[in-house]
Amino acid sequence: MLQAVEIDPRRFCKDAQSWETRSDVSEFPRLAQEFTQGALFCRVTGRADQLGGLSLKLTVSGQVEMTCQRCLGSMQHAVEIDRMVYLARTEVELERLDAMPDSDAILVGETLSLVDVVEDEVLLGLPLAAMHAEGECPVSGTQ
Ligand SMILES: [Zn+2]
Repeated sequence: MLQAVEIDPRRFCKDAQSWETRSDVSEFPRLAQEFTQGALFCRVTGRADQLGGLSLKLTVSGQVEMTCQRCLGSMQHAVEIDRMVYLARTEVELERLDAMPDSDAILVGETLSLVDVVEDEVLLGLPLAAMHAEGECPVSGTQ
């Protein structure tokens, strides 16, 4: 399992720190339940704007395999995430950030687990029911 990567979000962003890992999906506590195999490359970089707004630039990519919910066979899934996650320190700030177009905002406390953030983003990007495209299950049933 991956070590929990706990950061102080303010310091991480203000110092423009970054964290990266290339790990097998089995090493992520929650992703291990979604994906049967594969590896992900993750990079998280902190940013602070001139007004003190904090954000993380998140890059996650990799080819993973998951179970098709129709045929229970294995299917490939490409993870390709490249986005900004804004860090809100109050509910009001969270609402304001969330209202911005194409933005992701999360409420953070004194510490933040980067593995959690990466997992959240990957899980959000998954289809509700993972399935091969219609008619493309390798073991097809009756016509
Ligand atoms: Zn299938």
